[in-house]
Amino acid sequence: MSTDRAWLKQALACLAQEAARSADTHLLRLDLPAFPGIRFYFKDEAAHPTGSLKHRLARSLYLYALCNGRLRAGQGVIDASSGSTAISEAWFARLLGLRFQAVMPDCTAPAKVRLIHSLGAECVLLPPGLDASEVARDRATAEGLCYLDQFGLAERATDWRGNNNIAESILAQMALEPDPEPAWVVCGAGTGGTSATLGRYLRYRRLDSRVCVAEPTGGAFAEGWRTRDPKAVASQRTLVEGIGRSHAEPGFLYDVVDAVEEVDDADSIAACWWLEGALGRRYGGSSGTNLVACLRLAAGMRERGERGAIVSLLCDRGERYAETLFDAGWLARQGIGLAAAQTALLARLAS
Ligand SMILES: *Cc1c(COP(=O)(O)O)cnc(C)c1O
Repeated sequence: MSTDRAWLKQALACLAQEAARSADTHLLRLDLPAFPGIRFYFKDEAAHPTGSLKHRLARSLYLYALCNGRLRAGQGVIDASSGSTAISEAWFARLLGLRFQAVMPDCTAPAKVRLIHSLGAECVLLPPGLDASEVARDRATAEGLCYLDQFGLAERATDWRGNNNIAESILAQMALEPDPEPAWVVCGAGTGGTSATLGRYLRYRRLDSRVCVAEPTGGAFAEGWRTRDPKAVASQRTLVEGIGRSHAEPGFLYDVVDAVEEVDDADSIAACWWLEGALGRRYGGSSGTNLVACLRLAAGMRERGERGAIVSLLCDRGERYAETLFDAGWLARQGIGLAAAQTALLARLAS
């Protein structure tokens, strides 16, 4: 028992040290002259050491597992992921000296799989039709592993009242801006953890800011938000990784989300290509989905003569999709033509 507690203390100290070494991510401003009086801000979550917003979640999931007595010295760790979380979890596993297995769909971007391997972790790639969460849970039981369960626990593992969660960080960074209270905060929904934290925290701080989920067209969050059906499923698949779940996840808290914007994949991809030119860096598909939703909300505000700030997220590094979303040949093989979407995006930015 006492050796277990000694290891636990050491593991928690290791995570506290990692947090102390880490800086906050930048809140970048984007000026879009087509929308006078509306200011756009994007939080660069790709800047985390593991390249995505899942760095925050992975740290929280390990802390949650450790403090709940579910993760012990020498125990292996497993989780289901579309890749970003697995990269962050593998990185923290290496930091803590633990073995890690990632259960992912076999269509996951190859660069993500290579990154997980290079962190010393194992990948279990599943053909379509198999549920990664179920496989991860079964393996955890069979092999005595700790199941981090991002989809089950994301909404709970994050301290929604503060402790430098993403919402608290955004509001602190907005404090000196002309509109410190954003009109909208826009994010995607994978685990639903980010939208839950934002929605709860904005209420807790007694602000009027609203939360919009940017969702691939036909995704399960959009369907569940409309119907409040806990068994909601997607009517369409998406090429955008990290969001657009096939079924409603336990962390989808529809009641704190004020709007859902559904975005076609071609529009998301055209937008993430455009972001590279605007920001000088590549970001993943879900960052493009966010941008399209921001532009739609801004167009509505402009029409009504409203001014204010719209805040969103750059969720992960675009380099991970060099062989997929940023490869014109790959896109053509998926039946995605970007030309029309690019023209529509430029028209929206010009009007
Ligand atoms: C997980 C993820 C999201 C969505 O965030 P959640 O907090 O899980 O809902 C968006 N984009 C990317 C790239 C992700 O990995």
